[in-house]
Amino acid sequence: MSAFRSVAAVTGVKHCGRRWEQENMADVEEPEKKRRRVEELPEKMAVDSGCRDTGDWEGRWNHVKKFLERAGPFTHPDFEPSTESLQFLLDTCKVLVIGAGGLGCELLKNLALSGFRQIHVIDMDTIDVSNLNRQFLFRPKDVGRPKADVAAEFVNNRIPGCNVVPHFKKIQDFDESFYRQFHIIVCGLDSIIARRWINGMLMSLLSYEDGVLDPSSIIPLLDGGTEGFKGNARVILPGMTACIDCTLELYPPQINFPMCTIASMPRLPEHCIEYVRILQWPKENPFGAEGVVLDGDDPEHIQWVFQKSLERAAEFKITGVTYRLTQGVVKRIIPAVASTNAVIAETTCRMYFLFLFYSAYIPLNNYLVFNDVDGLYTYTFEAERKENCSACSQVPQKLQFSSSAKLQEVLDYLTENASLQMKTPAITATVDGKNKTLYLQTVASIEERTRPNLSRTLKELGLAEGQELAVADVTTPQTVLFKLNFTS
Ligand SMILES: [Zn+2]
Repeated sequence: MSAFRSVAAVTGVKHCGRRWEQENMADVEEPEKKRRRVEELPEKMAVDSGCRDTGDWEGRWNHVKKFLERAGPFTHPDFEPSTESLQFLLDTCKVLVIGAGGLGCELLKNLALSGFRQIHVIDMDTIDVSNLNRQFLFRPKDVGRPKADVAAEFVNNRIPGCNVVPHFKKIQDFDESFYRQFHIIVCGLDSIIARRWINGMLMSLLSYEDGVLDPSSIIPLLDGGTEGFKGNARVILPGMTACIDCTLELYPPQINFPMCTIASMPRLPEHCIEYVRILQWPKENPFGAEGVVLDGDDPEHIQWVFQKSLERAAEFKITGVTYRLTQGVVKRIIPAVASTNAVIAETTCRMYFLFLFYSAYIPLNNYLVFNDVDGLYTYTFEAERKENCSACSQVPQKLQFSSSAKLQEVLDYLTENASLQMKTPAITATVDGKNKTLYLQTVASIEERTRPNLSRTLKELGLAEGQELAVADVTTPQTVLFKLNFTS
């Protein structure tokens, strides 16, 4: 389990390859030589010029036909080779790619080259210069523009017949009717909250008749994730196979070192850097006026933290504090590695293919991990559904508390429980026939008004055995219902 835990630690952290890029580039070439090399580059790269052909040429889809029009040793017994599959792929199939970053660029390229022509892409980010080492659909002139727009332009220009529609938005900006139009959704995200939200959205699209799932309401979700040299790719059939929330325990909580360790018993170089960042910076205000915020992108700030961390490390005989580690800790950087993105995107796209025509191949069942930190290791296992998963199980969630427990304890449970991990839960209940907000923290005025409830007991709040509590949170588009169960 622990191996999975670390490998599945994909995400939650904003990926950034700037540091990695700078240092590696500097190692290989002297600055002057590099500058000349860059200046000599023609304005456009060969791949930037679009392809003049507009239609299909002979043999264009031969590579795809090999998969769709003949059986093979791994094909499912029910598979019937057909020429119609290619036509479906070219003309009908509609796919949504979420994320146009490191993974997203790879996914878009792979899908477009495999014959998918109706692709939508959502990304809320703009292009930063540090993205350019691996997000290969972007050029220096694109810095500052929306990733979705530039990625769509590039692919449409380069691949005849492909129509990528960009959305420079958040996934939360769209409703059910938008998501319902797709045959499949592919995620290359770097946030667990966004993954859980889209997972919840797909669950809300499911329809059940007499408790039986209508298979036509299922939109498969393929999810890729990378973190440095580790990555994973998985297939989710909403309502049928393990969902993101079923395996929430795989995502480790964000690492925060205990303050007592940082303050008095540091053991790791990271502890020393955290000490300077959290305690020494606000106390010494090295850059003038009080309240200057430590900026991870300011080399002078990082240099100051680095020097002070070295002093603290020397005091406790700890080695390993470097400038690079300092910036990594301050910015919570996990280096992005282009090759990992390529492997994971390729795997995700291949799964996409297998799934779409899933009678064609025995589907990957259902979770692949990839790790080339030390040698190369890859493995698949079947993630199992959780019987009482709050996102996909249809089983009412239980909250077991004593009637003298305070609302604060319920709130802590919702945020700290490994299988719930909510962020800012808002709790409402129907008391005496009236809908009552017990606690809501996202609106300051309501937070202030409901805060006293946190120190009241469930009984004092008028809640009874079997009472339903409705909980809303950023991790899901739906309200989660909990049934209150009083323990004696
Ligand atoms: Zn689930």
